[in-house]
Amino acid sequence: MGLSKTIWTNPTEMIRNVAPENPVLFFAPSVVQAMARRFIDGFPGMVTYAVKSNPGEEMIENLAAAGVRGYDCASPFEIDLIRRLAPDAAIHYNNPVRARAEIAHAVAKGVKSYSVDSKSELAKLIEMVPAEGTEISVRFKLPVAGAAYNFGAKFGATSDLAVELLKTVAAAGFVPSITFHPGTQCTDPHAWEAYIREAAVIARNAGVTIARLNVGGGFPSHRLEAVVPQLEATFQLIDRVATEAFGADRPLLVCEPGRSMCGDAFTLAAKVKAIRDDAHVFLNDGVYGTLTELPLIGIIDRMQVISPEGAIRSAKPVDRIVFGPTCDSVDRLPGEIPLPGDMEEGDYIIWHGLGSYSVVTNSRFNGFGDLTMATVLNLKV
Ligand SMILES: *Cc1c(COP(=O)(O)O)cnc(C)c1O
Repeated sequence: MGLSKTIWTNPTEMIRNVAPENPVLFFAPSVVQAMARRFIDGFPGMVTYAVKSNPGEEMIENLAAAGVRGYDCASPFEIDLIRRLAPDAAIHYNNPVRARAEIAHAVAKGVKSYSVDSKSELAKLIEMVPAEGTEISVRFKLPVAGAAYNFGAKFGATSDLAVELLKTVAAAGFVPSITFHPGTQCTDPHAWEAYIREAAVIARNAGVTIARLNVGGGFPSHRLEAVVPQLEATFQLIDRVATEAFGADRPLLVCEPGRSMCGDAFTLAAKVKAIRDDAHVFLNDGVYGTLTELPLIGIIDRMQVISPEGAIRSAKPVDRIVFGPTCDSVDRLPGEIPLPGDMEEGDYIIWHGLGSYSVVTNSRFNGFGDLTMATVLNLKV
C-alpha cells in the first residue's frame, strides 16, 4: 500500500480535488516527527517504537529520521522490516512467547534483547541464544489500573515468578532487565508508579542489579477532545519514581510507545454512503476497516463533517447510529454518535487520531477495505 506521490496541503484539498470513494487515511510526517521529538526530549531514557501499532514504511522512515534508534518487534516480519528500513537501530524482541524457528531467525539477525514471562520460554532462550552481551527482560504484571483494557490477561509473570526468572537470567550470564506494560491508552500516570516500585522490589528480592527497566507502551493518544494526554507529566513522574524506588541502583530506562507515537499523525476521511430513511448512517469504513478499535476501547470524538466541496457542516448535532459498509451486523460503531444535523449523503466524516491499530488491522472483509493513503502537510480541515 504505497503513499500517493502527490503531497496535499490538508485533507480538504485532497477531498475537493479527488472526491474519493474509498476511505482515505491522511498522514502528516511533520506530526509524527514532532511526536518523536517530544518523546526523545522528554523521556528520561531510550525511546523505542512498538512496531505493531503501525508498521507502515512511512512511519518507520519518519521515526528514524527524527532520531528514534530502537524498535520493539514481535515477529520475524517486523524484525526484517526494521533491519531493512533502520539497519543500525536496536531491536527488542519483546513478544514473550516465540516458536523455536522465530528465535533462530532473531539470533541470525543479531537481535540482542528479548523479554520473557515463563520458565519454559526462558529455557528455550537459554538453549538457543548466545548469552554474551544479550539482554533478557523479565516481564511482570500487576492487577491493572488506569488503562483501556487489561494487558496482564495475556502476558506477565507474577512478582514471585519474576524473582525466580530474574535470578535464572543473571545466573545464565545474560544481561538482566525488567519490563512491564501498564495497559494500552493508559491515561492514569500512577499506573507507572505502582509498576516501577514493584520492579524495584522484584530486583531486590532476586538480589540482582538490573541493567534496564523498560516501562512499556501504554502512553495515550488523543482520542477525546476534552482529554489531552499529559505526556510530560508522565515522563517526570517516571523519572522521579525510578530514582525513589531504585536509589543508587537506578537502571537505565527504556520506553516503547505504540499508539501515542503514531495515533495523532493520521486522520481518516470516511464517506457517508447513505443516510437510511433519515435515521441510520452508513459509512464506507467500519469495524472491519480502520475503526476496529472503537468497540474495544471507545469512541474517538475528534471529528468534523465536510461536504464534497469542503464546507464544514455545523448544524446542531443529532445522535446517530452509525454502521460500517459490510453486511455483518457487528459492523456498528459503539453507542450513538453526535453528527451535524445538516450532514448529507456524500459528505465525509473527518476523524482525527486514527493512526494506531487501524491501517494494520484493516481487512478486506466483504470486499471493502480498499484504503487510500495520502500524505499531507497538515491535518487541519
Ligand atoms: C503493543 C505493545 C506496546 C505498545 O503499546 P501501546 O499501548 O500501543 O503504546 C509496547 N510494548 C509491547 C511489549 C507491546 O506488546
